[in-house]
Amino acid sequence: MTDLVLSESLAAARARLTEALDAAGRPADAARLLAVSKTKPAALIRQAWHEGQREFGENYVQEALDKQAELADLTGIVWHFIGPLQSNKSRDVAEHFAWVHSVDREKIARRLSDQRPEGLEPLDICLQVNISDETSKSGVSLEALAALAEAVLSMPRLRLRGLMAIPAPAETPAEQRVPFARLRQALEALRERFPEAPLDTLSMGMSADLEAAVAEGATLVRLGTAIFGERHTR
Ligand SMILES: *Cc1c(COP(=O)(O)O)cnc(C)c1O
Repeated sequence: MTDLVLSESLAAARARLTEALDAAGRPADAARLLAVSKTKPAALIRQAWHEGQREFGENYVQEALDKQAELADLTGIVWHFIGPLQSNKSRDVAEHFAWVHSVDREKIARRLSDQRPEGLEPLDICLQVNISDETSKSGVSLEALAALAEAVLSMPRLRLRGLMAIPAPAETPAEQRVPFARLRQALEALRERFPEAPLDTLSMGMSADLEAAVAEGATLVRLGTAIFGERHTR
């Protein structure tokens, strides 16, 4: 991908988000764009940064650390970890990211809290919810969500910000909205139960279903392909 193509696709992604917010009757700043840069080279992230993009999502710890080292001169960049997280990688994530979207069990949350360096802000956390695919291994069930949220809220170095989901693919926009609505309702229920918690984030919507997610209240949409093009390799 050339710089020119990236510049155009990023502008198109921004326009798409603005239009979706407008169509949903929501303010233009009600949701922001997370640029998912997994498998893409640091040079493209640098280019997106020059175009004003600040928040980036990565899925693979070592790949992310390599790119962060290469991009250490970029100010104001915010790294989100959005991939499956294994215990043996939790320290790297606790030390090198601002956000984690994929927390789905207490053990990993506890490690992240224990390992978050004192000199950094608390780590912003979204709980990943298994919203539509009962056979999937990642994501906490809706039934277990409140207990996990309560546990995370008690951890001193974490800040529980909201929920994330990756629904099973659906055919129509109407079908795409169903699991997103369920996630929104789950966040509303948590807000009622824990009114003091800073629960302001619905991390939902990807390149194929951004509009449906925004219609249901997404505040952070995670776009990879739409910004950086198809992924070929890992
Ligand atoms: C890869 C990935 C994305 C981006 O997906 P696209 O379809 O390329 O936009 C978003 N969220 C998560 C958790 C991902 O792993």
